Amino acid sequence: MELVTPKAHTRQTASELKKQVGTEVQVTGAVYRVRELSSNFCFIIIRTDRELIQCKLEGSEHRIDPRQYAEGNYITATGRCVEEKKSPHGFEISIQKIEVLSKPAAEMPFSINQRELNIGLDINLDARPISLRHPGQRAIFKIQAAIAELFGEALSDIGFTKIHTPKIVFAGAEGGANVFCLDYFGRKVFLAQSPQFYKQMMVGVFGRVYESGPVFRAEPHETARHLNEYTSMDFEMGPISSFTDIMEVETYCLRHILNRLPEICLTELELLKVTLPYIIEIPAIRFSDAIEIITKKHTITDRDDLDATSEQVLCKHVKQEIGSDFVFVTHYPTTKRPVYAMEDPNNPEVTLSFDLLYNGLEITTGGQRIHDYSMQVEKMKRRGLNPEDFESYLQIHKYGMPPHGGLGLGLERLTKQLLGLQSIKEACLFPRTMNRVTP
Ligand code: ATP
Ligand code: MG
Repeated sequence: MELVTPKAHTRQTASELKKQVGTEVQVTGAVYRVRELSSNFCFIIIRTDRELIQCKLEGSEHRIDPRQYAEGNYITATGRCVEEKKSPHGFEISIQKIEVLSKPAAEMPFSINQRELNIGLDINLDARPISLRHPGQRAIFKIQAAIAELFGEALSDIGFTKIHTPKIVFAGAEGGANVFCLDYFGRKVFLAQSPQFYKQMMVGVFGRVYESGPVFRAEPHETARHLNEYTSMDFEMGPISSFTDIMEVETYCLRHILNRLPEICLTELELLKVTLPYIIEIPAIRFSDAIEIITKKHTITDRDDLDATSEQVLCKHVKQEIGSDFVFVTHYPTTKRPVYAMEDPNNPEVTLSFDLLYNGLEITTGGQRIHDYSMQVEKMKRRGLNPEDFESYLQIHKYGMPPHGGLGLGLERLTKQLLGLQSIKEACLFPRTMNRVTP
């Protein structure tokens, strides 16, 4: 029997290599580009997991044919790390030895070693395993990974517990038609539209909970803001004293994300030329007041909801008036909110709920939930739902729940808006849309 000892296997980063100028180093990665400058001198740029490292191959006595090391080969280059002001990281590796770890079987379908990835969105998505290797594409998802991480970091810092809830569910929380059905050993079940019921159940256990996970929406259309599977960053908290507690926690979370992102992803933000917004506080406007503002500039068909243009009109107005890219819209009409939404005791026509709009697009819906058993049962009946179908959910109300609420924040929507992407599909590694389930 052999023993496996713990070893961290850390990777060499450019900043660590730079500290080793004057010594022999080793870099492993894919050949990103070979630039032959003369018959016995060329640059080989190695793409590591995050960076491009400049290596120089000199002298015919090495008898290394640089053409062997064309794009896609995985190599380990060994050589002296030397200072080089003209190199992007301020050093380069003067190669003494190259070991080829693996060779591709074919040429890449398009070049990923240009500054811009000059292919259309469909080709990009068809060849996702390759197109994602482009530094610009990769940067989007490095930033997205950091956003999700920072969302969790902000919440766990203030006592939230991370949970993992099932995605195969018996009852859809949001209701409506956009739910995928599934045959589950002969029973009809659904793919979760949100972790709503489960996160509420967990408020009774941990008080404050969050989850980042997939949710499924059978939206029968393709738009620049809808996916059929997306990552929802959710939290739920109780006891609360008002639904504004939830908006305050979201503001704190977003500020944490925006403050910390440059520390973690400066390289990627610079590569994508992104200027992040700055949040001190976020203005809030009542839904009814928002409608008055919007109708001055845009004809709306449904006065109980904000369509895509309404969101843009309102955001433009807020930006002009107070300079904020973000705006909370509160007190949405009860008819447009789910059965678990708490109505305003002063006006049951509206709910203690909100959306957060960012730069013309809804990125969050949240609000206070009903915690009282008879109130919830009565509302289900009013909506034509049978409370017996919700027996397991209603246990929380029956056996006592604090006043509570929470929200869902779409990770891809936030990424799209922060990075100024045209379509939400660009902010998803492997988007699922009506016409796309591969790769
Ligand atoms: P919309 O009105 O824009 O279709 P919604 O109000 O139906 O969205 P919610 O149920 O409120 O969506 O979902 C909460 C959040 O999840 C949204 O604010 C958004 O960030 C994200 N989201 C909702 N639907 C989608 C989708 N189909 N694709 C990507 N993200 C979504
Ligand atoms: Mg919504």
